[in-house]
Amino acid sequence: MTSTYDLSSAEPEMMKENTSRRMGIGGRLREYWLAFKLVFRSLTYNSFTSSSMAIDIAMEPVIWTVEHITKYMGPMMVGMVILLTTFVVVIMYLIVLPESMVRSSYELWIHLIFGQWVMVNILFHYYKSVTTKPGHPPPVVSETGAGGICKKCIGPKPLRTHHCSVCRTCILKMDHHCPWINNCVGHFNHRYFMLFCIYMSIGCIYVTISVWPQFRDEFFDARKTFESLFGDSIFARSMEIYNQAKAADTIRNMNETELVKNGAPLIPPKYTLSFSESMHHKAVVYEFFVCSGVTIALGGLSIWHARLVSRGETSIEKHINDEERKRLSKLKIVYKNPYDFGVRKNWEILLGINVRHRSFIRHVLFPSSHLPERDGVHWINQLTPGYVAKSVP
Ligand SMILES: [Zn+2]
Ligand SMILES: [Zn+2]
Repeated sequence: MTSTYDLSSAEPEMMKENTSRRMGIGGRLREYWLAFKLVFRSLTYNSFTSSSMAIDIAMEPVIWTVEHITKYMGPMMVGMVILLTTFVVVIMYLIVLPESMVRSSYELWIHLIFGQWVMVNILFHYYKSVTTKPGHPPPVVSETGAGGICKKCIGPKPLRTHHCSVCRTCILKMDHHCPWINNCVGHFNHRYFMLFCIYMSIGCIYVTISVWPQFRDEFFDARKTFESLFGDSIFARSMEIYNQAKAADTIRNMNETELVKNGAPLIPPKYTLSFSESMHHKAVVYEFFVCSGVTIALGGLSIWHARLVSRGETSIEKHINDEERKRLSKLKIVYKNPYDFGVRKNWEILLGINVRHRSFIRHVLFPSSHLPERDGVHWINQLTPGYVAKSVP
């Protein structure tokens, strides 16, 4: 029996040896490669694996870096907003207002009433956007509010809730994570954020228009711009000496009548500004460029967000809805966003004035800390039974 066993077990070994000898190095390498592929596939096999998942995994390090930069840059960006805004307000009070006071008292009244109103609203809504928590799901969510489970938090994820990887938590009705407020824009601070964007844009347009006469005089004065750029340089000094020489030459060539007519001695143009002149110039130029720049950038962003509010969707929902619209249109079905109740109603919901005793004048035009109507967990939409007939116009 033993010999039989030995023979039978030795045979395959011999066969293997012969085969590998026949295959050569190339064949063996191929065999190793196939074995490696089999092991790799068996270890990494996942029925959900797809090319988009592979791209997601490849992008992970990039996303990780961006998220961490956003997180650590947040406090710095808030500091920057405060600093830039403070400078704009100080320049407005010290330079723009006194000059407009000289121009007309009518203009001054506009500044005093309109300017203060905008400033108070900007400060209030920015403070509230930064400090108000956007809202997180409670540990237990009743059936009506349940949307699913968050894979990262391993907790309930109500409808319209999304996970923010910068805040590392789920956010109720998440719109986006904004580094300029170092906070997520969600259910409870969406109104503050939106009104901050609108008031800040209005404020920047107002300052840009107010500072324009001074900016025009300062910026398009070649001498002042030249001095502010080159300062107390050799170039500026040379220009000054050249102009003095030129003026002296002009005086020398004048006869007595011309001298009397022009008033002697002629004052040569000065190419060096005093410290206060130079600061004044820089302040006016700063005021104009910062405010006109913010008007364009933030104005564009405000229009984009206002459009989303009018359509009853958040930034995240816009992408989801667009995809859904595309998918259903292929099936010849018209997709309708379930949270779109019409432009007017959508704005009333966002501004929290869809509740009795709340008005546009008191609760939107002036600072107000009122809460949104809903809790951010339980939502009603057009699919809610009995709601369609009442609320959809
Ligand atoms: Zn989460
Ligand atoms: Zn966030």
